[in-house]
Amino acid sequence: MKRDLNEYPVQYVKGIGPRKAKLLARLGIKTIYDALYYLPYRYEDRRATPEIRSLKYETLQTVTGKVVSADLKETTRKKMKIFELVISDGTGLLTAKWFNQPYMKKVFKPGKKVILSGIVKRGFNWGAGFEMQNPEYEIIDDDSDTQNIHTSRIVPIYRTTAGVSARALRSMMHSIVNFALPSVEDYMPEEILKQYSLPPLREALRNVHFPEDGDIESLTSGTSPYHQRLSFDELFFLQSGLAILKRGQSLARGISFNPEGRLIQRLLEILPFKLTSAQQRVIEEILEDMRKPTPMNRLIQGDVGSGKTVVALMAMLQAVEAGYQAAIMAPTELLAEQHYMNIHTLIDRLNLRCELLTGSRKDRPLEEIASGEVDIIVGTHALIQKEVRFNNLGLVVIDEQHRFGVMQRASLRKKGFNPDVLVMTATPIPRTLSLTLYGDLDYSIIDELPPNRKPVVTKLFRPEQKHLIYNFIKSEIKKGRQAYVVYPVIEGSEKVDLKDAMQGKEKMQHIFPEFTIGLIHGRMKPQEREETMNLFKEGKIDILVSTTVIEVGVDVPNATLMLIVHAERFGLAQLHQLRGRVGRGNHQSYCFLLAYGRLSDEAWRRLQVMVRHSDGFKVAEEDFNIRGPGEFFGTRQSGMPDLKTANLLRDVKLLKFARNEAFRLIGSDPSMSRTPSLRAMIERFWKDKIEIFRTG
Ligand code: ADP
Ligand code: MG
Repeated sequence: MKRDLNEYPVQYVKGIGPRKAKLLARLGIKTIYDALYYLPYRYEDRRATPEIRSLKYETLQTVTGKVVSADLKETTRKKMKIFELVISDGTGLLTAKWFNQPYMKKVFKPGKKVILSGIVKRGFNWGAGFEMQNPEYEIIDDDSDTQNIHTSRIVPIYRTTAGVSARALRSMMHSIVNFALPSVEDYMPEEILKQYSLPPLREALRNVHFPEDGDIESLTSGTSPYHQRLSFDELFFLQSGLAILKRGQSLARGISFNPEGRLIQRLLEILPFKLTSAQQRVIEEILEDMRKPTPMNRLIQGDVGSGKTVVALMAMLQAVEAGYQAAIMAPTELLAEQHYMNIHTLIDRLNLRCELLTGSRKDRPLEEIASGEVDIIVGTHALIQKEVRFNNLGLVVIDEQHRFGVMQRASLRKKGFNPDVLVMTATPIPRTLSLTLYGDLDYSIIDELPPNRKPVVTKLFRPEQKHLIYNFIKSEIKKGRQAYVVYPVIEGSEKVDLKDAMQGKEKMQHIFPEFTIGLIHGRMKPQEREETMNLFKEGKIDILVSTTVIEVGVDVPNATLMLIVHAERFGLAQLHQLRGRVGRGNHQSYCFLLAYGRLSDEAWRRLQVMVRHSDGFKVAEEDFNIRGPGEFFGTRQSGMPDLKTANLLRDVKLLKFARNEAFRLIGSDPSMSRTPSLRAMIERFWKDKIEIFRTG
């Protein structure tokens, strides 16, 4: 397509104009491009036009006939205006009714030929009559070329909004598509289209909007060849961007870390456990990357509790031994504080210096960081503030990376000069799809938990069964274990009827007068929080009431019980993370989900997934099925462009094709000088986003 046509405002298309353009803008349609990629969400088959006498009841059918009568009637009781139309095709009569749309009287004149499409009902006036309510209609007048849009064809149904009828939108789309198609040019190399039997662009666009044939099923599910062509393109654009990024990174000069490995050796000696073989493998993969002169960009994925922290620490020690600083950024203060405590107890024994940098820490060691006295810096996004300067930052670790935006990751990276980057996540995504979200990163997976971990027993409870939970908590604590009780909010309000953590603490104290209850939440001072966490770790608090601040990173192996109050309010990823706080020691652990009120279908499905699966991959896959890819990825957060037609779940095969072709093309012609129009489309698709990645 000519590039300028893509940006052409729909307002100037014949038959649209300023008033209609305003309506379209409400649907996000401003340019020709917006319109062409605003696809119907389903289709209706209105091709067959049976004779009226052979109509079937309760099915959607399309009928052609002449207007016999057109009357506006008023019901006496409810003051409703009904417009009643009767048509005939010589084999029978059909009545159509529209409610409270008196202007319809002006639309239909006796003698006119019309097409009606709707569900056929039994007319109650005569036992055997035929009737349609609010059917789609088309008036066939001889000098008009607008017919055959709403009836006697496969009809597209577009999502619309208040003030724009489905019919009006369809007419507008028809004008725009007809206007634009002749100028559409195909940008995709012909060999690629041929290899995957994909239709030309113009044909694809015409048929996704106003299909000439095809079956409703494949059109509606987005698997028709026309839809697949558009989805392929989109995935191709996506993968090309990733290929460009990855290429850029492989050309950049980074640091080659090549020390003996003495610090790692000493850490291994003082660690209270043996590394799992998965941890060892991943550490090897990381060290291999670190030796190379190109910057490392590696994602470490591992379920909650798989031991990612120590793997990151090994990498940091390698950087430090080579004479550089290393930083680890965590999404919450609580997690940063935990990391700090763990890391500094270990590395103090190696005579290294570790410091904590969070928003609420007052005496920030900025000078020591800038001078290089500090070797390892643990922090939150406070790390990326302007006044924080490093001496020579060589390695950046981003923990729980899904909680950070692309920009934040990029900013931390910029604190060094092409430092190595390690991102860690516990949010497992279906394997095939990591190609997309992390398509520009190398990828390692810790697919093994430390030994002796027993799967957490998960059970769903309703409020009337609360006493069962309390009895159980009591007996576990008597055995010497500890418990978490998590609430969705810190403090309740009049508006929402939710149990909150403040009340929760009082309540627990009341139910368990013999136990010590602690409270922790995000609004506390760091020092108080630290004290409470330490008391809990030392076993001086039996029950820790909290909000979701404990979601990530908290690690107290003796805590074996997790009660999640209002479990129906939490998403699956969050529930799984919370559950990950228990099952960290040798004792059997339990997660109780307490759900209130009438559960929506979705909530019910989520909770069942938790009860059935303890494996993070399984949970993620189900989460993906329930919420769909858009929600699941949180595309805005991840920095990925939105997909309009492709569906990452449905189009996995197409995704692989697109990835292969895109990487091949960029490999052979990195600047895409041989395919300029394709290049323009890729730039359009990524817009400013690829820049973010590039600088990151
Ligand atoms: P996550 O991957 O969720 O970040 P952590 O790094 O917090 O997991 O590790 C969870 C717990 O497992 C910590 O207490 C850690 O000390 C411990 N751990 C890590 N690796 C091992 C191992 N190989 N054997 C036993 N315990 C381990
Ligand atoms: Mg962790």
